[in-house]
Amino acid sequence: MELKREVLTSDILDPRNEYRPTPVEVEVRWDPLIGYSSRLVRGGGPLLPASDFDLEAFGRETAERCFFCPPRLEAVTPRFPPELVPEGRIRRGEAVLFPNIQAYSLYSSVSVYSAALHYLPLEKVTAAIVCDNLAAQVDFVSRVRRHDARAAWVSINANHMLPSGSSLFHPHMQGSVDPHPSTVQELLSRVPAERFRDYLDTERRLGERYLGSLGGVEWLAGFAPFGFNELRALVPGVGSPEQLDQERTGALAEGIARALNLYAELGYQSFNLAIQGAPTDGHVLGVRLVCRSNPQPLYRSDVAYFERMHWQAMVDGTPEELAERAGDRFRG
Ligand SMILES: [Zn+2]
Repeated sequence: MELKREVLTSDILDPRNEYRPTPVEVEVRWDPLIGYSSRLVRGGGPLLPASDFDLEAFGRETAERCFFCPPRLEAVTPRFPPELVPEGRIRRGEAVLFPNIQAYSLYSSVSVYSAALHYLPLEKVTAAIVCDNLAAQVDFVSRVRRHDARAAWVSINANHMLPSGSSLFHPHMQGSVDPHPSTVQELLSRVPAERFRDYLDTERRLGERYLGSLGGVEWLAGFAPFGFNELRALVPGVGSPEQLDQERTGALAEGIARALNLYAELGYQSFNLAIQGAPTDGHVLGVRLVCRSNPQPLYRSDVAYFERMHWQAMVDGTPEELAERAGDRFRG
């Protein structure tokens, strides 16, 4: 497989170089699976700066009226009807899953890592915490798939902290089971099985962005990223989240925890996650994580007209630099 990229160069008269003609560069890359493009820019200040905003103090402020903190979680969050979830809410360890009071899809769930974890900085995320939450979501989507044959498109997602789109501070994941795919799910569902294999083989061979395999889950830095510091995982042999057995769920949770610890190391505390399934033969379950702007007053959004209006991410770090920072953490 050819990984398509092109570096574009033009001259400006640069004030930093006494207005002499100076080349400036931008690189365009095309995603090997669904073909969208990304822009990698260089040479300016960081587009996604780290911050020293006191997240813990903001956490204390928001905890007082948080719906997901005890005792409000038990008292005010919705319950599923008994034909879907007889016990009303799904529990795994400390994780608690309940319906999203504002439906995002035909069946949509919210799951907290723990009612007690109102503040969960990414350096404190562990595989066990992620595994309980992910297992609750896998249980939920499995029950929905058995309950309603119309709802075949499954994803498990996260908005983490306000800049990522989360309206509540308390960390949580969200499950979605719907009769219709999202745009990206639909595009991915048309990718033939051999193309997933080819992509993985190519990245393994090149070694610049391939990060390693954890319990059968293959981790990569995205070639043409959707956003800042994009990490991708592919789970060969699994097409949709409800097919994740206990072992694979644990392996995927381990990788997600390591990814989030890496984001903390890089100076970030807000991210989006999507685990995107499709009900089509040969589909390979895909996982993506991107960093979002740090929560702080008057922050610059990491989403600009390129992302919002052109469907094209513009980032200023390369996937290869990210792979270097990740080092060996996804290898066994
Ligand atoms: Zn809370």
